[in-house]
Amino acid sequence: MSGVTYDYMEQYIRELIPSNVGILEELEEFALLNRVPIIQKETAKFLQLVLTMNKPKKILELGTAIGYSSILMSLTLNGLVEITTIERDKEMVKIANKNIEKSGLQSSITVLEGDCLEIMESLQGQYDMIFMDAGKAHYNHFLPNCLRLLNKDGVLIADNVLFRGMVASKELATRRKVTIIKRMKSYLELVSNNDELITSVIPMGDGISVTMRVNTLSSKEE
Ligand code: SAM
Repeated sequence: MSGVTYDYMEQYIRELIPSNVGILEELEEFALLNRVPIIQKETAKFLQLVLTMNKPKKILELGTAIGYSSILMSLTLNGLVEITTIERDKEMVKIANKNIEKSGLQSSITVLEGDCLEIMESLQGQYDMIFMDAGKAHYNHFLPNCLRLLNKDGVLIADNVLFRGMVASKELATRRKVTIIKRMKSYLELVSNNDELITSVIPMGDGISVTMRVNTLSSKEE
């Protein structure tokens, strides 16, 4: 049970999505075998849709793991994107770099080793898209830097925001996850109750939030 949506719904939607081949299929098998968490099938499809609509030139990703989502994003954009992805686990960084090299995407994807918060502090420049997929207990702490680094038309996508349903339901919440739940709620409240931002929370996968700046709407009308 995912706790986010009905199991039958999740299963039906997943069955509609064609299987990947090549490097993505290989990485999915590796992740499954080695219990590395990577984005879920429907989340991947959603990201691909946003990428196809927005065609971002620069993406910042928080949480590389084995490089699956950054490779998927780059392949979706035919390698015509500059992705910076942050990972603090040395071993993961090694594996991700090997996978990126194997996919021939070294010129598109750069892995930065370290803690997201510290590395983001040192980053300058503007990103067209930020994909937050690391450190569920820190999304609220990452937010100020994400907003600083997000360009005015940029889109901020956060994964796992409903965290197996625990964020929305006391019955599903476990005591061990109380800090993550509290902080994730704080993140969702921050992005939902800010007049300058527009946020949609989607009960898909483990819960996705999509945030943009409100003035994007008016600036497009000018
Ligand atoms: N985005 C990846 C994908 O779908 O292929 C999966 C990322 S996995 C869910 C989260 C990763 O974030 C883990 O590899 C973990 O080591 C890393 N991580 C967690 N907290 C972090 C932090 N504060 N700074 C940097 N990396 C972090």
